[in-house]
Amino acid sequence: MAERITGHTELIGLMAYPIRHSSSPAIHNEAFAYLGLDYAYLAFEVDQDTLEDAIKGMRALKMPGANLSMPNKAAVIPYLDNLSSAARLCGAVNTIVNKDGILTGHITDGMGYMQALKDDGIDVIGKKMTIAGSGGAATAIQIQAALDGVKEISIFNIRDKFWDNAQETVDKIMEQTDCKAALYDLADLDKLKEEIEDSYLFANATGMGMKPREGQTYIPDKSFFRQDLIVTDVVYSPAETAMLKLAKEVGCKTMNGMGMLLFQAAEAFRLWTGREMPIDHMKQVLHMG
Ligand code: NAD
Repeated sequence: MAERITGHTELIGLMAYPIRHSSSPAIHNEAFAYLGLDYAYLAFEVDQDTLEDAIKGMRALKMPGANLSMPNKAAVIPYLDNLSSAARLCGAVNTIVNKDGILTGHITDGMGYMQALKDDGIDVIGKKMTIAGSGGAATAIQIQAALDGVKEISIFNIRDKFWDNAQETVDKIMEQTDCKAALYDLADLDKLKEEIEDSYLFANATGMGMKPREGQTYIPDKSFFRQDLIVTDVVYSPAETAMLKLAKEVGCKTMNGMGMLLFQAAEAFRLWTGREMPIDHMKQVLHMG
């Protein structure tokens, strides 16, 4: 790193709190070094009290870009100049591009999920998917899937504080895309089974299956899955959740959240640098398949 940093090196920042556990600095710095690009990526503890100043600092320092995570993904929007259509529909931003002082907010989580499917040879375009969740990860996937041409999305969520967001997502998809969307209560297991039955793909986009719910799933038994169903999980730690284990036992093709993690970074990387992230190299670094 000491040999890499010069007077020309440009800074990309990750602004979130807490953030010290993040794998994003390692991913992006590895890709910059591998391609010989003169950027450095650092994590900054920024919360809603300091976010406005941090964005002003980004402008003042002419930083070419940044990533954002919680609690800043929605809070940053008033400080930006433009939003991508996915970021506008999600009401959230995880990537900022600074082009000649104009800051544009993007959300690459959903793009990352869709690209991970493609990379795995899974083509959901024009088909129906069923997905559980309505938090940040789920909303980004649902909006991007609708924008990319998925035909129908059935969304399931428990009746918690995310329920209203799920209803808003359904309304936005129905009004602003060609995709059909509907919301159901995840407690209605008969409906869940029925919707999965005529879906090409089922996605978990909740934290179920990771700590503190490691080893758990809301899928009651194998009868919910069939061999030609694709089953995906946003969770990547553990690499195989209880739900993916069940799906594998049925013979389903499965995908965990590592691909989404890698490709959301790759989309941001391309937005900042105009270059493709070296995916095969990064898969080796991340010990992926
Ligand atoms: P969030 O807090 O915004 O949303 C949580 C979601 O889980 C909500 O829909 C909520 O209703 C649901 N939920 C909570 N408890 C539940 C339960 N007992 N049963 C069923 N549903 C329940 O969280 P998020 O940021 O959307 O993250 C969700 C998961 O996605 C986390 O595991 C996170 O690690 C993962 N994630 C992965 C990636 C990736 O790149 N692979 C990116 C972002 C998030």
